[in-house]
Amino acid sequence: MSILVKAPAKVNLSLDITGRRDDGYHLVRMVMQTVDLCDIVEVDLCGEGISLSCSRTDLPVDEGNLAYRAARLYLDHVGVDKTKNGVSIHIQKRIPIAAGLAGGSADAAAVLVALNSLYGQVKPDALSNLAAKLGADIPFCLQGGTSLAQDIGTTLSPLPSPPDCFLVLCKPDVGVSTQEAYRRFDDLVQVSHPDVDGMIDALADGNIDFVVSSVNNVFEQVICIPELDHIRSVMNNCGAMVSCMSGSGPTIFGIFRKEAEAKICWDHLAQIYNDVFVTRPIAYGCKIIENH
Ligand code: ATP
Repeated sequence: MSILVKAPAKVNLSLDITGRRDDGYHLVRMVMQTVDLCDIVEVDLCGEGISLSCSRTDLPVDEGNLAYRAARLYLDHVGVDKTKNGVSIHIQKRIPIAAGLAGGSADAAAVLVALNSLYGQVKPDALSNLAAKLGADIPFCLQGGTSLAQDIGTTLSPLPSPPDCFLVLCKPDVGVSTQEAYRRFDDLVQVSHPDVDGMIDALADGNIDFVVSSVNNVFEQVICIPELDHIRSVMNNCGAMVSCMSGSGPTIFGIFRKEAEAKICWDHLAQIYNDVFVTRPIAYGCKIIENH
């Protein structure tokens, strides 16, 4: 049995940090949006134990890989004897790594979706709880679309999709660790908080001008890399209605009304940066595309 799953990236249309729990986890309020930039994850039931391969040789293929940990957690949860019933995973990476696009979380969610379609034992709510044990973004990656994510990011409330638009994503050739971004946030003396409620109202209104005027990310106050200003100015010169960082960065997304403008922007940025994509918002998360 082999299952192919599309694992889409996310951007944060709005991201605020509202506090910290006693256990150290940060409390967030974020508007998350899946986009049609996807890794492809293939899961086969074969052999013994869990084996993983990846098109990117700089990623771990053992416990260090979130997709591997997702397989182990799922199999332990449903009580499968891994020594007799093995799982083989292959990840075709397209989502840039350590980019603020939740690529690792998307791969982990894809493994949960694949294994659950093979074993068919875990109900959606329980699968989401299992996902939350692996990482705060993984429940959203399972569900996808547009959502308000609260608490540590795992409490989700669906929101209306944004009006039709195109997003150019550009990641400069540096990675940003999420932990380091939170550490810098904790050192901030004064924080300017994004208007997350403004984004929720704008989505309900369905007006793209309101949506773009509410795009904001609190991490922009702590991630300062020279390339980010350059990417933003190229996007703005090409007609972006707004440009903003996704997650803890460093990917910048620009929102365009017209596909032609987005493609011109891609032409400019792709001459300088390796990770540049024209994408659109999509209304789903990890999705099985082949099952044989
Ligand atoms: P987020 O937006 O959730 O903070 P991110 O896009 O910033 O995520 P990822 O691409 O998920 O970051 O990778 C973060 C770290 O996780 C990397 O340093 C990488 O080594 C590790 N990692 C483990 N498994 C994966 C995977 N399947 N894909 C990408 N990174 C992975």
